[in-house]
Amino acid sequence: MKYYLSSSKILNPFQIHDQVQSSVRKRILITGAAGFLGSHLCDRFIEEGYHVIAMDNLITGSLHNIEHLLKFENFEFHHHDVTTFVHVPGELDYILHFASPASPIDYLRMPIQTLKVGSLGTHNLLGLAKDKKARILVASTSEVYGDPLVSPQSEDYWGNVNPVGPRGVYDEAKRFQEAMTMAYHHAHELDTRIVRIFNTYGHRMRREDGRALPTFVEQALRGEDITIYGDGMQTRSFCYISDQVEGIFRLLHVDYHLPVNIGNPDEITILELAKDIIRLTNSTSKIVFRELPMDDPKQRRPDITLAQTLLSWTPKVNREEGLLKTIEYFKNL
Ligand code: UDP
Repeated sequence: MKYYLSSSKILNPFQIHDQVQSSVRKRILITGAAGFLGSHLCDRFIEEGYHVIAMDNLITGSLHNIEHLLKFENFEFHHHDVTTFVHVPGELDYILHFASPASPIDYLRMPIQTLKVGSLGTHNLLGLAKDKKARILVASTSEVYGDPLVSPQSEDYWGNVNPVGPRGVYDEAKRFQEAMTMAYHHAHELDTRIVRIFNTYGHRMRREDGRALPTFVEQALRGEDITIYGDGMQTRSFCYISDQVEGIFRLLHVDYHLPVNIGNPDEITILELAKDIIRLTNSTSKIVFRELPMDDPKQRRPDITLAQTLLSWTPKVNREEGLLKTIEYFKNL
């Protein structure tokens, strides 16, 4: 018998089933719910009055990110790995598939889990969506563009990915995920959405996440050297978490099935990012240069014309404001 943790109570599936039968709320399953993005999505859907079924295997996520939600009767947590059969009792209106290691050091450490959650996990959740007649939104990534040869990257760019390089496990899993989602859409008329998420940051990122932004903030706060890979001239475009969540929320509620970029086109070099963080933390840290990892993308900037038109959405939080909020969070950890 599998047990689920719900509202700080332990329930078995049949109890959950009884409980949900009486509910009139829209019911949404969120996978990767204990992760950075997933937990913010849980917050948003709870705020909007949905019944949230949060699922995570906790290999990179943490219960700390969602423990404040356990008190709500419309929130339940299922400790489960979506690469094995996914069973959710009762009706489902929506599924958000956000489970996956997402930081380069995580997917290098867990290459097979990364491939499995993007492929087998996606397959299971598409099957569940079909069974429940639920709308499903899958989390794709700017990594489907690989090391892009065009900038900015619009949705019709097919990308430049090395399938057998170190990042291939993530990039190809997400490309497969997109293909599988479109196949279910066409073959089974499943109601699907695909969001291509560009670099996103904010509170609840992990200190040891390994990504540039939290790493630099931690290093700056401790007065340690800031480790830039390569010459720091590679670019990224960072989107604050509240803007990302708003974009995803809106995408779920429009009738559009092809991929949509969500990110902030404010592009900077990694060197500039490091200097900004040193300035905003009043840090004494020095910048040091380390070897650039293989296949590290040289540039990344979303073309968000489609999202702006389709969703009447545009990012609102500028870099300085977002960085200051994130720095505050890391100071208080
Ligand atoms: N990076 C860096 N120092 C670090 C971590 C990352 O210079 O301590 C670089 C990394 O090589 C890449 C950029 O920062 O060029 C963004 O890396 P991140 O891991 O944040 O995510 P990515 O956008 O590559 O998926």
